[in-house]
Amino acid sequence: MEFPLPKVLQILSKEVAGYAVPIVDLIAVQTKDPYKVLVATILSARTKDETTARAAARLFKEAPTLAALATLSEERLAKLIFPVGFYKNKAGFLARLPGVLASEFGNQIPDEVEALTRLPGVGRKTANLVVAVAFKKPAICVDTHVHRIMNIWGYVQTKTPLETEMVLRKKLPPQYWLTINSTLVAFGQGTCKPVAPHCDRCVIAQYCPRIGVTPRKVPKQVKKTTEDGMRRFVSWNVNGLRAVEKKGFVEIITDLNADLVALQEIKALPEQLPESIKNIPGYTAYWFSAQKKGYAGVATYSKEEPISVIYGIDHKDHDYEGRVLTLEFSDFFFINAYFPNSQPGLVRMEYKLQFNNDLLAFAQTLAKQKSVVICGDFNVAHKEIDLTNPKQNEKNPGYAPQERAWMDQFIEAGFVDTFRMFNQEPGQYTWWSYRFNARARNIGWRIDYFCVDAKSAARVKAAGILPEVLGSDHCPVSLDFA
Ligand code: SF4
Repeated sequence: MEFPLPKVLQILSKEVAGYAVPIVDLIAVQTKDPYKVLVATILSARTKDETTARAAARLFKEAPTLAALATLSEERLAKLIFPVGFYKNKAGFLARLPGVLASEFGNQIPDEVEALTRLPGVGRKTANLVVAVAFKKPAICVDTHVHRIMNIWGYVQTKTPLETEMVLRKKLPPQYWLTINSTLVAFGQGTCKPVAPHCDRCVIAQYCPRIGVTPRKVPKQVKKTTEDGMRRFVSWNVNGLRAVEKKGFVEIITDLNADLVALQEIKALPEQLPESIKNIPGYTAYWFSAQKKGYAGVATYSKEEPISVIYGIDHKDHDYEGRVLTLEFSDFFFINAYFPNSQPGLVRMEYKLQFNNDLLAFAQTLAKQKSVVICGDFNVAHKEIDLTNPKQNEKNPGYAPQERAWMDQFIEAGFVDTFRMFNQEPGQYTWWSYRFNARARNIGWRIDYFCVDAKSAARVKAAGILPEVLGSDHCPVSLDFA
């Protein structure tokens, strides 16, 4: 059966009227200014709308016109537009834009696709969007949402957005050209999401053949994260983000529905990761990878935009290993840490203890300002109760006397191991060796923690371990924080 496009678009135009307006359309309506539409479109590539909106507002405050944009340095532009995706590249494009517009287009924003694609940072998708949105001229902007959804519907069978654009130019009735992008972007962001679309609540479900779609599993009992102002945090050593991606990582994170997700041992640079991981709907991800490829590295996904992000602990001996990433919010700091392993023969013990002490000093400094939550893979089981075979491991990495002594010192300094506030049972582990069927036999270690500074212990409402979550040799740990 032929896909009933007119009927579906009629339903969707009513449906998306209640959704957030895509940022570029919003800026067009609010400003009617092709310069601002062009700049917002450049900023919006691979970036969530909320992030684009905030970055555009900061930028337009200092550069309301093309002439004002020309006065800003590339460094200043990068600062203003951070954290949009590829902000350094985009700052370079924006720095070159006034020059190219002056020399080739008499300081006017061109209104043709081919001309626009000669501008720095403007590809075909951006050019089509500017022509359609800023100049209201016939153009079909095919971004990933349009390309993806048109293929899900079977209206096109194409491999690339460019192919989709070419097919739509022949097939799509002209009355839909100008609106198809904003309708499908809004719908793609709100319901037909790239990962786990909401087929369960979709208004056009009866017409959709769902080609190539894995529908969202409706979680049985997901905790409401904002109940009574409570936030849920999760920390997980994923032992390689690219590996865990193949084991349902995005769906796991979506279902956990935490406000903050701290990952350790990501073993990748952001540019090595697929879009599905870099842009999990509802989250902005912050990355601090190790300089050495395929090693260590931490990342934090946040629903809320932090006030600031601190990469590392300002220490040359540690920061190149990508071990600590801190997000600052109005009433707490969230430190995501991957502590070093002391290694067989304890050959890295000296380095590890130095790192631990430097991190403790960093956390104590922050705790003077506001609450501190510190989570991650501490790479140490603190007490006998925290591992299956304490006697056998007394001198081994992760349970060596020096490491346990440091953990004592950390607790004496006022930090609270939140899991033990609620649970004094043995057999509660967060890491199992891949060998000897250890996980199935629960021969493990509790080496992943959520800790808080002493004065914030009263804000801790629950702390747990999620051993049912598979995908890594560690499982996630969680904290409910008021
Ligand atoms: S039914 Fe599912 S796949 Fe089809 S449009 Fe709706 S959300 Fe997308």
